[in-house]
Amino acid sequence: MKTIYGPVTSWRIGECYNVDPICRSPKLCSLDCVYCKFGSSAFVSIKRSDMIDTAEFSDDVDHLTPQQKRIPLRFSGSGEPTISKNLGGLVSKARAAGVDRIVVVTNSSLLSEADVREDIRDVDIVIAKLDAADEREFQSINRPHPDITYSKVLSGLHAMRFNYKGSLRLQIMLMERNRHSLEALGGLCQGLSPDLVYLSTPTRSSICEPLSRKVMLTAARRLERIGCKVLVEGKR
Ligand code: SF4
Repeated sequence: MKTIYGPVTSWRIGECYNVDPICRSPKLCSLDCVYCKFGSSAFVSIKRSDMIDTAEFSDDVDHLTPQQKRIPLRFSGSGEPTISKNLGGLVSKARAAGVDRIVVVTNSSLLSEADVREDIRDVDIVIAKLDAADEREFQSINRPHPDITYSKVLSGLHAMRFNYKGSLRLQIMLMERNRHSLEALGGLCQGLSPDLVYLSTPTRSSICEPLSRKVMLTAARRLERIGCKVLVEGKR
């Protein structure tokens, strides 16, 4: 199989197979997050185009065994999955092949686009990034394409929440730059009512120092106090 690999272990969803709908090096993303594991890139893009071949993916997913199809299939990779214009087609192929659970990980930047939301409408789990509590923090942490504003990201997340019937989960990367915005982030979480909030801190080499375990657990407790269900990366 060329377009599907695994199983791999994800701290967020456990054992899964992975599809990288971008499959590019360097990364192709609408953001250039300061903590990105792929490193920094001067090139950010929001232009949607086909990246991997739908027919090749279809062949690969058809060859998964019934047992393999019971393991979640995650769309996540070397950039932003929703930049892939055929993402909806890939999801449909996976569904038609009988994959039990389909997961899409997104940086939320294109969720304001109706066609993007349509592409992922039928997946079981959407894990959407929300690191910033305002435009200034968004620019500082996520360094978006010039056409992506913080208000666009928020309106996309709300539109997603409103129409989506699956499990919408938020992913917050907490660091020195946004730890003092936790209360505001909590308020945003309350407005979006995610099914789960994933909390992590940069651990790979980046210009951001990771927060201590104690700070992370305290942050989790504060979010839990306002009604969020929280999973912190690493052991609690
Ligand atoms: S959204 Fe993901 S891939 Fe894109 S820059 Fe941020 S961390 Fe890297």
